[in-house]
Amino acid sequence: MASSTVEYNGAYVPSLAANPLLPLLLISLAKQKHAPRTTASFSEEYDYIVVGAGSAGSVVSSRLSEIPCVTVLLLEAGKAPPLLNDVPYLWRYFWFSDLDWAYKTVPQKHSGFALINNQMVWPSGKGIGGTSLINGMAYVRGNKKNYDDWARLGAVGWSYSDVKPYFLKFEDNADPEYLENGYHVVDGPVRVHTSNYEAEIKKPLMEAAKSLGYKIVDSNGPKQTGFYVPQGTIRNSQRCSTGKAYLVPAENRTNLNIVVRAYAKKVLIEDGKAVGVQFDKDGGTFAVRARREVILSAGAVNSPKLLMLSGIGPRKHLEDLEIPVVVDLPVGDNAQDHVVVPVHFQIEPRRPSASPLSQQSIREYIDNRTGILGSLTTLIAFINTQKNSVIDDPVIQLYFSGISSEVVNGSYNLKPEVYEKIFRPFENRTMCVCNTQLLQPQSKGTVRLSSANPYDMPLIDPNYYSNPKI
Ligand SMILES: Cc1cc2nc3c(=O)[nH]c(=O)nc-3n(C[C@H](O)[C@H](O)[C@H](O)COP(=O)(O)OP(=O)(O)OC[C@H]3O[C@@H](n4cnc5c(N)ncnc54)[C@H](O)[C@@H]3O)c2cc1C
Repeated sequence: MASSTVEYNGAYVPSLAANPLLPLLLISLAKQKHAPRTTASFSEEYDYIVVGAGSAGSVVSSRLSEIPCVTVLLLEAGKAPPLLNDVPYLWRYFWFSDLDWAYKTVPQKHSGFALINNQMVWPSGKGIGGTSLINGMAYVRGNKKNYDDWARLGAVGWSYSDVKPYFLKFEDNADPEYLENGYHVVDGPVRVHTSNYEAEIKKPLMEAAKSLGYKIVDSNGPKQTGFYVPQGTIRNSQRCSTGKAYLVPAENRTNLNIVVRAYAKKVLIEDGKAVGVQFDKDGGTFAVRARREVILSAGAVNSPKLLMLSGIGPRKHLEDLEIPVVVDLPVGDNAQDHVVVPVHFQIEPRRPSASPLSQQSIREYIDNRTGILGSLTTLIAFINTQKNSVIDDPVIQLYFSGISSEVVNGSYNLKPEVYEKIFRPFENRTMCVCNTQLLQPQSKGTVRLSSANPYDMPLIDPNYYSNPKI
């Protein structure tokens, strides 16, 4: 463990690399197996090939391989995450690392003016667990009306009453007070609970919310609108990624092969049918066939990218890149993203903040799983901006957290002069950030290829704020 420890802490959290408590921290994290066993060898043919071991791919391949007579190959471009990835507070430290595809949008016309080259960062997880390795772990099911609208528009099986049983199936809820409303259960593979950490900003924020007439609710329960003390997809204050929840329990199944550092380049298509996948691994290129299905779960950007590389996409775009067209389809159109605008506040009284990576804080986490290292977003709010609306259909989500200038500098792609002017004066002080997020964005953009080379970055253009209705 020691040599890889030094290697990955240098890469992810440099200030921890020489910390004498690091070995103890890692030993304490290792009590939970966070990634499954993988294999370097694979067969020529499987029933199912699943591309991408992220949130979706981990679940799909785990569930399929419950059927003993079915064989499944799970291909993942990234690797198994390091143990340190389990510490909730460190989530943003893994952005731009080898657990992140490190994408940025193309320069934006209507937004991103404080950012270098008007480019927004677009974190996208890479490794067993996918984006569940680098996300904020907030347990948010989504809005009931959203699901019901999809069903009304023809998505059979997607109404809230259709999907609720699946939320219950995956959940292992550890907070008794959340179990009372009939919307939660225990014993599923994904552990969820609130953080043990009481942030300084929590009480005043709750008081402010109540004084403005907002209710404190379980946003995954009967009504989403209001303020929510978030539960997180964490197990004893360690990240509960989908790799941990779904693939670790499946790791001994002989009908499931999990192959990492396997970079899918193309879906093989014969007579209009997907029959296999071509991928690179360890310097070689391989083609494996699927008897039944190829399942793309490579994420919102890399799934359309892979389809286009395989000749499924807009004819003109593919022809411009000299990719033979298999089917002319609007793949990569209609890209919508719920853009976030962070608004920062100074906390009074002004005083230097204790380092989240202090010896005391690491100790607290090792000994009791308390302290800031186990923290999640402090408070989430779902707001309907139409005053007095009784419809449970919020249009804005707010996330309140403490944040440091160091984290801002490392994760926003800010222009240096903006950092100097706005954030430098607040170094070593805790700020509060309110991330404001549009829940029903109207602006639409595209995902396109930049070339026919599978290793080139895709062109991600969410076209934020292009629609005046936002
Ligand atoms: C910064 C951030 C914070 C978030 N916070 C939250 C939150 O708090 N709560 C919440 O519910 N959701 C959150 N989300 C959203 C959530 O994490 C994602 O919606 C979800 O993880 C996406 O799952 P997925 O299976 O579609 O893709 P992913 O989980 O991204 O999985 C795709 C996988 O495919 C692999 N892959 C891609 N291309 C290839 C290839 N060519 N060959 C082989 N493998 C490939 C990738 O490496 C990756 O492992 C957040 C997202 C981000 C970006």
